[in-house]
Amino acid sequence: MAPSAPAARGNELYAGYQSELADFRLAFSRGGAYTAIVLVLLGVGLDYGQYPDKQLPFAVARIVVSLLIAGVIVALYSNAGRRFAPWLTMSWLLLPQIMIAWMISQTEGVESPYYVGLNLAIFASGIALPFGLWQNLVFGVLSYLLYAAACLLHSGGVEPMGTFIVNSLFLLFAAAASGVYTFFNERARFMLFRLKAEVADKNTELEVINRKLVDIKGQMLQQEKMAAIGTLAAGLLHEVNNPVNFCLMAIEVAMEEPVTKNEPGLQECLVDAKQGMQRIQHIVSDLKTFAYRKPGAEVEGTPFLFEKALDSSVRLTAHELRGVKVTRELPDDTLVMGDEAAIIGVLINLFSNAALAMRKAGTQQPAIHTTVKWADGRLHVNVRDNGPGIAPEHLARVFEPFFTTREVGQGLGLGLSISYAVIERHGGVLFAESELGQWAAFSFDLPRAE
Ligand code: ADP
Repeated sequence: MAPSAPAARGNELYAGYQSELADFRLAFSRGGAYTAIVLVLLGVGLDYGQYPDKQLPFAVARIVVSLLIAGVIVALYSNAGRRFAPWLTMSWLLLPQIMIAWMISQTEGVESPYYVGLNLAIFASGIALPFGLWQNLVFGVLSYLLYAAACLLHSGGVEPMGTFIVNSLFLLFAAAASGVYTFFNERARFMLFRLKAEVADKNTELEVINRKLVDIKGQMLQQEKMAAIGTLAAGLLHEVNNPVNFCLMAIEVAMEEPVTKNEPGLQECLVDAKQGMQRIQHIVSDLKTFAYRKPGAEVEGTPFLFEKALDSSVRLTAHELRGVKVTRELPDDTLVMGDEAAIIGVLINLFSNAALAMRKAGTQQPAIHTTVKWADGRLHVNVRDNGPGIAPEHLARVFEPFFTTREVGQGLGLGLSISYAVIERHGGVLFAESELGQWAAFSFDLPRAE
């Protein structure tokens, strides 16, 4: 049976902890071994104070043990060191204990104050070394057995028995206390590690939320801008449409007057005025898309095949797309719900923008690739060209009404803002991506027809 998500996360955490612990143990083992060499050698001072007559053999023993510990340190730095760290640690810890036990057997046996050294090592292993509970208990019991063996081997035998019992109990108490300490130490270390992992998890979550917030903020800003333009456009429609219509009518009337007919100069002026007024009329009609749209409103329209809309838009822009390689990738079924004419308008706008940008930049082997895919019940469309791309500072502005990089009189800068509003009416988002000098891509999504 597959483990549940929290159980799997728990196992993952435990594995991570074990790996971190292995590094920690290795580092501490090396540090501890260096310390042990120093303490073993400094013990010469103890020998001088307690057993001056044994100074020489004890000093030799200390040097031999230090060299052996140095050998273990070398092993700890080897490749196998990490894997065998607990055993290597146990061996360098036992070396001084064997040496102390030997010294006890060579001096007063049960009454030798050196038994304190055995005790010290047991405590130190529990407090300072990241040992496991069982390792610690084994080390404590082995240390005690070494003490008992030293007393037994002493020429004077196990005497006095009372002191032996007291010292034995002290050693066993030390082993037990050190074991308990190790147990809680290990748990605290695990909790600390888990906390660290949880903080890292939360940080990742926060980063994701932050990125989403930045996206939402961008979309909201765009929607706010569109709403403001909508209000402006509604006002404009009202205020401009009527005077424009009067003017057009007046121009028509004036053009029919005999004076005008006999005056070619005047006639030309009136034709220019008429064209200007018609242009205003077109702009106003484009602005209607903003004026009467409701953000997030239900999609009106009928089911239509997106594939057909794509065909129509390619046909309608055939003139501009001359010399451009147009490719596509479509699923079998592309039945969507919406306003087919408006979507054709969006596609025409995307194709002609791409073709224009590529022509202006002199792109070699210009190409436009349209990828269409279903995801989460919506049809996702991506139109990508290999043209000059869009500069990062322009990318955020391309959907702004009247933003254009075309020369004066060539582009109104309304195409993408109108397209944005159209896609928004279909409950989708139109967004642009680009790598300057490499490519530009526009994506949007449409609802599936029920
Ligand atoms: P217009 O085409 O009238 O300028 P649009 O709103 O359609 O208005 O486009 C706005 C601007 O976005 C363009 O002037 C151009 O700078 C940029 N743009 C749009 N599509 C592309 C594209 N495929 N490659 C490079 N720039 C583009």
